[in-house]
Amino acid sequence: MASLHLQDVAKSYGKVEVLKDIDLDIETGELIVFVGPSGCGKSTLLRMIAGLESISSGDFQIDGERMNEVPPSKRGIAMVFQSYALYPHMSVYDNMSFALKIAKMPREEIDQRVQKAAKILQLEDYLERLPKALSGGQRQRVAIGRSIVRDPKVYLFDEPLSNLDAALRVDTRIEIAQLKEDMPNSTMIYVTHDQVEAMTLASRIVVLNNETHTIGQVGTPLELYETPRNTFVAQFIGSPKMNLMSAKVVSAGDSTTVKLDHGEEVTVPIASAGASSGDQVSFGIRPEDFVVAGEGDPVIYSGEILYSEKLGEVTVVYLKPAAQGEATLIAKIPGIAQVTKGETVHLTGSPEKMHLFDAGGESFRYK
Ligand code: ADP
Ligand code: MG
Repeated sequence: MASLHLQDVAKSYGKVEVLKDIDLDIETGELIVFVGPSGCGKSTLLRMIAGLESISSGDFQIDGERMNEVPPSKRGIAMVFQSYALYPHMSVYDNMSFALKIAKMPREEIDQRVQKAAKILQLEDYLERLPKALSGGQRQRVAIGRSIVRDPKVYLFDEPLSNLDAALRVDTRIEIAQLKEDMPNSTMIYVTHDQVEAMTLASRIVVLNNETHTIGQVGTPLELYETPRNTFVAQFIGSPKMNLMSAKVVSAGDSTTVKLDHGEEVTVPIASAGASSGDQVSFGIRPEDFVVAGEGDPVIYSGEILYSEKLGEVTVVYLKPAAQGEATLIAKIPGIAQVTKGETVHLTGSPEKMHLFDAGGESFRYK
């Protein structure tokens, strides 16, 4: 049982600022995922929580107690890394019990804890094996077992699946989700750059923005997907990323009409407080929310097909941007669509699936 509180936390290495303005409250039992592009500071933030990295400024508490100066071993935290670094000459049992032996825990207590962890992780039949006789996924489970036996208040995972191949990643991801269900009172923080992992595992996701060095948004996976706060989160969550098109406000109010710079006039059911006619904005729509327009449908965008990818379940269509220097527009059409290169498609979409951001990239939904 542990809740975490970070207030105005910042980190810099000399003059280089890595993170700032980090305000975050994590409740007991949550599985929080830190996600963001490579180099945005995910590992740094996790290591500051673990005590492996100093906190440059701000306040970090576990259960209301300030932790900034508390050594890692006294924080009640266990960390699982990408490289699981098991002792190769020791059995699974010995790998899992090693830290407890060093801590001089009584043998029966150690045995009880190892058996319990082995049961949770389905490693009971492998306790006598050496790591080399295990699959990658099983080795990663042993590494997790090493933390479970210590009965920490908080589990920290830094990209634990990134050394596994694609199929094993999926299996192990599901195992971690089940593990969390089996331990409802433990608090977990999980770092990944893989947004599918983030979307499937998290109770809430923290998106770190590598441009501003701040938190882009904190929310449940679907909150981030449906109502991103800014263009950074809008384009980071979802794959392929959200299409953004520049537009000008035609009329502001409870709903907003915009004229796409290279397209049509569209009315979006989002209030545009503070905006006025003529303002430059960004109109957003996800590739999966574009629909091929039928007769009489209001067209949002017409574009020439540059190429398409037929994946079976979906056809991904790449459209020529209307103006040079603009991003290629992407539409995902369900199933196998009969489209050919060079052909022009007309796209529409339902107003509820549209997004509107001001010139600074902030969503009008949150104003
Ligand atoms: P992530 O885990 O999100 O990929 P990191 O937390 O590892 O990113 O790194 C964040 C930034 O901090 C990077 O730009 C990295 O170069 C920088 N950084 C990390 N460790 C150090 C260090 N010891 N000294 C200087 N810069 C560092
Ligand atoms: Mg990292």
